[in-house]
Amino acid sequence: MSAFAIPIWDQPALPIVGADAAFPVRRIYCVGRNYAAHAREMGHDPDREPPFFFAKPADSIVPNGGDVAYPVATKNLHPEIELVVALGQGGWNIPVADANDCIYGYGVGLDLTRRDMQGVAKDMGRPWDLSKGFDNAAPMTAIRPVSDTGILETGAITLTVNGAPRQKGDLADMIWNVPETINYLSGLIELKPGDLIFTGTPEGVAAIERGDVLVGHVDGLDDLHVTLT
Ligand code: MN
Repeated sequence: MSAFAIPIWDQPALPIVGADAAFPVRRIYCVGRNYAAHAREMGHDPDREPPFFFAKPADSIVPNGGDVAYPVATKNLHPEIELVVALGQGGWNIPVADANDCIYGYGVGLDLTRRDMQGVAKDMGRPWDLSKGFDNAAPMTAIRPVSDTGILETGAITLTVNGAPRQKGDLADMIWNVPETINYLSGLIELKPGDLIFTGTPEGVAAIERGDVLVGHVDGLDDLHVTLT
């Protein structure tokens, strides 16, 4: 095969802090209900049921500082602040003890959610796909290499909206920590270099409106700045 029948698009990619090269984004997997207090606020028992996953398109990433237009087909848009793990290596059935070796680096991301559409999907037993995976649904900071940060296991994760606290938690409060998540997900699919994993959000999710200015923070990483327009 020597050519493509239509013009080829740009490879979705994120900047890497301190490097000229970019991090190519292959796929985006997200963990659902991975902080107990958030599971409770969404009406679920946070007992340690197996983790579950959904996905977003790779080209739904928005670079840090970018404006995000209020999406169509929702009147209840929720931002979920999350630690994002960028994989430099993949594989099947990655042991928990080896999982951190797959991490290239970390970023701060927003899992933007059309909550009203997701609610209908839950009620009707339909897929969540378009409530979670839509254009510009994954604003992200640059990737900070694990060689700079070390392995992140604890630290504050927060979201402010127009300067007011909205979400607050600690990475240590994850129900399934990052190595366990990589282990579990790699039993369902073959993870690949370039994959991102959104690791779930702490409590405090609520709607945002046009004009809101969001700042997401995880200790040790760059803050994420997003303006909803
Ligand atoms: Mn989420």
